[in-house]
Amino acid sequence: MSNRDRLRDLPSVDRLATAVARAELEARREEILGGGDPTDGAAVDLVARARARLRPHLRRVLNATGVVVHTNLGRAPLAVEAQAAVAAIAAGYCNLELDLSSGERGSRHDHVEALLLELTGAQAAMAVNNCAAAVLLACAALAGGRDTVVSRGQLIEIGGGFRIPEVLQAAGTRLVEVGTTNRTRRADYASALAAGGERIGAILRAHPSNFRTVGFVEEVEIEELCDLGASVIDDVGSGVLGDDLDLLAGEPPVRRSVRAGAALTTFSGDKLLGGPQAGLLVGTREAVGACRRHPLARAVRIDKLSLAALEATLALYRDPAAARRALPALAMLHAGDATLSRRANELADATGGTVVASTARVGGGALPLLELPGPAVAIDPGPAGADALAAHLRAGDPAVVGRIHDGRLLLDPRTLTDDDARDVARAVCAVPRT
Ligand SMILES: *Cc1c(COP(=O)(O)O)cnc(C)c1O
Repeated sequence: MSNRDRLRDLPSVDRLATAVARAELEARREEILGGGDPTDGAAVDLVARARARLRPHLRRVLNATGVVVHTNLGRAPLAVEAQAAVAAIAAGYCNLELDLSSGERGSRHDHVEALLLELTGAQAAMAVNNCAAAVLLACAALAGGRDTVVSRGQLIEIGGGFRIPEVLQAAGTRLVEVGTTNRTRRADYASALAAGGERIGAILRAHPSNFRTVGFVEEVEIEELCDLGASVIDDVGSGVLGDDLDLLAGEPPVRRSVRAGAALTTFSGDKLLGGPQAGLLVGTREAVGACRRHPLARAVRIDKLSLAALEATLALYRDPAAARRALPALAMLHAGDATLSRRANELADATGGTVVASTARVGGGALPLLELPGPAVAIDPGPAGADALAAHLRAGDPAVVGRIHDGRLLLDPRTLTDDDARDVARAVCAVPRT
């Protein structure tokens, strides 16, 4: 389209202004009539509100928190390869459910299954909307109408109200608790299986991602659980695919669960895997087949854009060293001291801030105790205070989100690229601080 055509296609000022003004006045009228808003009319800046209405609601944020997999900020940023795959697929039609060689109907799972088998050693695999959906589907497909055995130490809440007992109920399986909060042994599982007999559909192991128990604790390793004879669903959560990442050694690797013989292993696409929001299920042909056939599979299916990003992300894992460089979440976790110091110094020079010692975190409910030491830039907020500075930065475009500590705003270079850091510096300098 020529620029002239594009200019002609711009909405007229009248039409745009009228539409926005009408929506804003209607909203204000409802606030007043609803009686819920006592604000004096003069204090309500309807023009500012109308301006805000014209900006996209979902906006880019520069993450200066140092929390790498920040759930509130959209978790893992995508690798360049994954961004390109999304753009290419978004622009037109694709073979989402068409087998291009036969011309027959295909399965959307085919686009990532072979890669997942290669990377995990499983017999079969599928992808759904997120890991919560993967757990729900796994429990419904393997144990719906029957019982699921879970250790009392693993009746966990993941966040956002995802609680294992409630998930099992929603999946239509009855929870059989075994062991205690701190100690569950093989014999606890074995006696539940003996008592339950044919009623037992599965054993569910849920990784307590976001907390740790220490002291007088005991749990059953995945290999031993799989030896008990029942189908095991292993919800490992964060999805560590490489086994050469020392930093992530505290998280259960997917490969180990597959090797142990778990019927299904479930994990997230956008935590430590570093890809799009998705839930992965890998396991035996029979168990994955049961998931694919279950009516819930359609309700939790993954969309084509996530699938495009997921395929590109998984492909990077064929070369683990390349994955560590190309996947932003992994690169940030492994960022070297020299890079972090240089970026922190540049940010401090540009903003008049001070470099201080700080700690970044993994986030996303993974490795809750792991601290990643590194520099941060502390910004003195002036008399208005750190909250006002933070609010100013959040209102910008792109918004900047940092961390407030001891009355100062901390900006962590680990979760910023060099370009991001320059944009953050510009945003900080533009805020009046006197
Ligand atoms: C994060 C997590 C989930 C939920 O994954 P989402 O991708 O956020 O839906 C489920 N189980 C475990 C153990 C987790 O850590």
